[in-house]
Amino acid sequence: MEKLFADVIVDISSEKLDRSFQYRIPDSLAGQVKPGVQVWIPFGNGGRTIRGYVIQVTDRPACPVEKMKEICRIAEDQNNINSRMIALAAWMRENYGSTMIQALKTVLPVKQKTRQKEERWITLGISRREAEEQLEVYRKKHHVARERVLQAVLEEETVSYSLVRDKLHVTSQVLKTMEEQGILKIRSRRVYRNPVAHNEQGGGRLRLTESQQETADAIVSGWDAGDSRPCLIRGVTGSGKTLIYMELMERVLARGRQAILLIPEIALTYQMVQRFYHRFGDQVSVLHSRLSQGERSDQFERAKNGEIQIMIGPRSALFTPFPRLGLIVLDEEHETSYQSETSPCYHARETAIARAGMEDARVVMGSATPSVDAYYRSRLGEYRLFELENRYENRQLPRAQIVDLREELRAGNRSILSRRLQEAMEERLAKKEQIILFLNRRGYAGFYSCRMCGAVMKCPHCDVALSLHNGGRLVCHYCGYETKSPGTCPKCASPYIGGFRAGTQQIEEIVKKRFPAARVLRMDLDTTRNKDGHARILSAFANQEADILIGTQMIVKGHDFPRVTLVGVLAADLSLNVSDYRAGERTFQLLTQAVGRAGRGEVCGEAVIQTYQPDNYSIQAAAAQDYTEFYRQEIAYRQLMSYPPASNLFAVHASCEDGALLDMAMTYLRKYLRKIDPEEKAAVIGPADEAIPRIADRYRKVIYIKHEDYRQLVRLKDQLERYMEINSGFQKIRIQFEFNH
Ligand code: ADP
Ligand code: ZN
Ligand code: ZN
Repeated sequence: MEKLFADVIVDISSEKLDRSFQYRIPDSLAGQVKPGVQVWIPFGNGGRTIRGYVIQVTDRPACPVEKMKEICRIAEDQNNINSRMIALAAWMRENYGSTMIQALKTVLPVKQKTRQKEERWITLGISRREAEEQLEVYRKKHHVARERVLQAVLEEETVSYSLVRDKLHVTSQVLKTMEEQGILKIRSRRVYRNPVAHNEQGGGRLRLTESQQETADAIVSGWDAGDSRPCLIRGVTGSGKTLIYMELMERVLARGRQAILLIPEIALTYQMVQRFYHRFGDQVSVLHSRLSQGERSDQFERAKNGEIQIMIGPRSALFTPFPRLGLIVLDEEHETSYQSETSPCYHARETAIARAGMEDARVVMGSATPSVDAYYRSRLGEYRLFELENRYENRQLPRAQIVDLREELRAGNRSILSRRLQEAMEERLAKKEQIILFLNRRGYAGFYSCRMCGAVMKCPHCDVALSLHNGGRLVCHYCGYETKSPGTCPKCASPYIGGFRAGTQQIEEIVKKRFPAARVLRMDLDTTRNKDGHARILSAFANQEADILIGTQMIVKGHDFPRVTLVGVLAADLSLNVSDYRAGERTFQLLTQAVGRAGRGEVCGEAVIQTYQPDNYSIQAAAAQDYTEFYRQEIAYRQLMSYPPASNLFAVHASCEDGALLDMAMTYLRKYLRKIDPEEKAAVIGPADEAIPRIADRYRKVIYIKHEDYRQLVRLKDQLERYMEINSGFQKIRIQFEFNH
């Protein structure tokens, strides 16, 4: 049917984002009116015309057609940033199935009338020599916060106030006191003493190695030759990817365009940001999730006005409204935080590529362990692939060994610490080196496995681990398959079969008992609940206030502890046996990262990976730090089971307070899906309970649909949306769509 009506918003700079008005599209403009297009419309009764943005076109009128006014004409100035951001929101709505308002609110931050905050800078108020003496005093008195600032100012000369507050976690009170004592100066303008010397000192501009330079040159010459495909750099940690990003940014900036660098929040450390400040000075701005809406929109305003050229931040920095965006970089491309958990459930990589396409910008992604999806696309030629196999100066990667926990049991050791790990810990403690014990927990439900032979109970249809639920039921979260947990192992008949759960607290107790003299820190949700808890523990460990750090994935990302020479992965199976087709991928990534934590300094590190499945390819490849071998096996599994990226997977998540109503609705949805796809080209799986079947009194279920063709899934989604709109039975049901997640 022809799309005859346009929803228009007249004010995008305020909270009125959700006030849209509908207009008729005159025949003369048919086909030209699209989301993002700026139009002139009659407004109010006085015959006044104003400008507005089209956010949606539809064939269904929202009010009687006779009463509806007509769009006058299309505005002259079409290529403005607001138009482009609205077009991006429309793309997101279309591809991720949210409402247009949700998409707009994601893309355009609501502006609040706040006072423009000035960036402030900290410098020394005393001489360097005095400062060094003062630093010693702080060290002796254990004034760790003051020590951290002073150290930073000594190293950098000028540091950003907000960065010190947010990333070094120093309170404004402490800074004020230090200013009053004359130790620090706080100013609203950045002072460059001698920018060139400054750069050399901080190492902002390093000479690229040959392979780094080759990669950067190849990327740019591809661009110059008109190749606009996204680029993926697979480079082991420490191979200098960040340096390549900076090189590319510089070239983009030199052409009068701007750049966005996306980094998962957890990896957005002080050191990381400082490297960019060094090189690019105050052309750089940083976003993080602790900024208020107002502060965020201030930053966006500065970007719009051309005051800054580079924005660094997590997922949402992708929507920085640069007037001439030239480059989007995604660091740590594989990170799950690039996937939004709230509607629209967009993926930053896909959305970055879509935005770049609309604005003729380029996309570069980097990771030591690229997502299977991105690597698959590069192998298909959708992305250009660049690989850096060596660390800078060929620094050694740590040695990793796998310990078979089944052997431990056979040898009579029932502790979670294997004999090898205990030995290694003793050695390190004796040498006063530090240790990380890593619990790669993921998800909530436990799994069911045999301690004797390592067998894991899996769904016979989906080939993923079953989750253990109350009452000993084992459940598949894809298809809903259910079975009772067996009393003995179906493979080896051993009675040592059961649910597997392990907590950080338990482990802390075990470690303290075994190594009573060691100082132990624990980092998990409990110990980081209060503000700054996370950073406090990390800096205490970095300051060597403890010998052993025990924690979950929070501890293995983005932090450098040069004194850590041993990493123990306590049970690699914890992330391997999650009821999720990507469990192998996540395990490989987590283990590779964990192993990489050992031996960042001069001393070569060691990792011990404990597992009940020593033959598993994810574990073996991680121990060998061999990405391509992991990929080869993983993609074969995806192809065999038709999981993404070999096929496409569309999820319909539904929740409702009334469990019976939800059951019925999902059954209807399934029937409807069969009806609109009579040849069964799409595989419909479920409905099944979600991994967490009930949250906040709402029952939760999911249907999965697999199809080779992504567009067909989008078509099914559109039809489902219609079906649910028309049928009143779905009114009480909250639906969320997700593609390839
Ligand atoms: P990645 O982002 O791939 O993990 P980085 O860019 O962080 O790698 O580099 C890792 C370390 O090696 C950094 O401390 C960096 O300063 C150093 N390094 C990398 N390349 C060079 C180079 N060309 N010159 C000097 N130091 C380098
Ligand atoms: Zn067994
Ligand atoms: Zn199943």
